[in-house]
Amino acid sequence: MTYKTYRQVSGHLKSFSLIKTIRNSFLVLITIVSVISFFIAFCAVLGYAGNNNIRVINVKVVADEEFRASDEWVDVIVESFKRTSAFYEEQFGIKFNLKLIGEWISDNNSFNIQSLLEELSNNVGKDGSELVVGFTRQVSKSLKCVFSRPALGIALPFNDYVIVRADRKKGFDYHIMSLILTHELGHAFGALHVRDSTSVMNISVNNHTVFRFDDRNSKLIRLTKFVDFNKGVTSLKKSCLEQIIGLYRDGFEVDYENATRHLLIGSIFSEQGMIDEAILEYKEAVKIDRKDPESLTRLGVAYAGKGLLDDAIKVLSKAVRLDSINGAAHVNLGMVLVRKGKQEEAIDHLRKAIEINSINPEAHCILGGIYIQKGLFDKAIFECKKALDYNHIYSDAYYNLGIAYHSKLMYDEAITAYKKAIEIEYKNTMARNNLGLAYYEQGMLEEAESEYIKLLRVDPGNQMALNNYQAVLFAKKEGL
Ligand SMILES: [Zn+2]
Repeated sequence: MTYKTYRQVSGHLKSFSLIKTIRNSFLVLITIVSVISFFIAFCAVLGYAGNNNIRVINVKVVADEEFRASDEWVDVIVESFKRTSAFYEEQFGIKFNLKLIGEWISDNNSFNIQSLLEELSNNVGKDGSELVVGFTRQVSKSLKCVFSRPALGIALPFNDYVIVRADRKKGFDYHIMSLILTHELGHAFGALHVRDSTSVMNISVNNHTVFRFDDRNSKLIRLTKFVDFNKGVTSLKKSCLEQIIGLYRDGFEVDYENATRHLLIGSIFSEQGMIDEAILEYKEAVKIDRKDPESLTRLGVAYAGKGLLDDAIKVLSKAVRLDSINGAAHVNLGMVLVRKGKQEEAIDHLRKAIEINSINPEAHCILGGIYIQKGLFDKAIFECKKALDYNHIYSDAYYNLGIAYHSKLMYDEAITAYKKAIEIEYKNTMARNNLGLAYYEQGMLEEAESEYIKLLRVDPGNQMALNNYQAVLFAKKEGL
């Protein structure tokens, strides 16, 4: 009986924006094709404090229907957390506070643990907690990881959603459950697998009688102890980042994870806007494993970030041939093709992504954006709504939905959608711009003026907002 865990490279989806402007007299309506990348979300280290300084992390736990089939499911969760938290507190001064235990209706068609994790993060809100841990007991061929072994958990570095899985065929083993929980939470703090078989970060955690982290992972977790799971790497102290990169560079020796280490380092650079440095790391990762869709995808996305679209297409075209896990390579290739004006090819890849992974809000959102560009607004509305079915806190999907309604002159619906986009993403300046425009077009000049004032407060140098604000003032003066 060996317990294996999924390696912690994975596709955390993040959106950024591609803007296309359409001139409309004084005012400009922007359409957006939202873009995703494979990037791991890196988070802030607020500085190292000693173990005397306790960090309490509020956790929301949900269990799926298979897990809840056992009468003792609540006890298993409570007991696992008790043991894991006691260990983390003793080692690092980190306490896990179980704030809420709830139910989760998991997607039984989810064909691997990675898409199950995506589903968890798309559908289960955090309710004010910092971490969400999903317990599952699904057994099927579907829960194989990339090594064709059943995975017992998944966690992405510095990410706020974690999955722990128990085998349904066996009874609950409280000790093993808490070992797996300890291991996966280690990943959440950036820990990597090690050869040291006495470390809880060894890939086989089943034989362990004691809880122990190896020295390097301990060092790492002490550095990342105060990680803010909500924020990106940009809020990290540079000195901490350098130490973490140093540890990732030299500290770990599990050969098959060398590519992972380069991806992690590349992501830290990328999140800081150091794209050239990131590209070097991603190239190293590709050198180690030329058939890893994630390394290829990240390299392609980094090229696209530099505007090197042909290089991006070349690399992403390789990635899509290997991407059978979550469709992210197809989504990213589709996004670059849109930028090249190749809409039909882009649509093919986005459809393929949905075929691979049916829960794919990003693919639907980008399709919505393409249909807007093609003037097919009903189709765009359909796709945006699909995106929102799978992720109801998706600002870009509301934004695209707003544009589709706006284009159909359905102002009430458009305004509602733009407002939703802004509510979710305060700094969605394009949604604010279009909201102002929707008011302006209906002659609601006071409302339009007030929106542009708000927008300029958020983004004072926004030239489009300045122009539009002037246009509104001019219309007011002229009594238009
Ligand atoms: Zn692991």
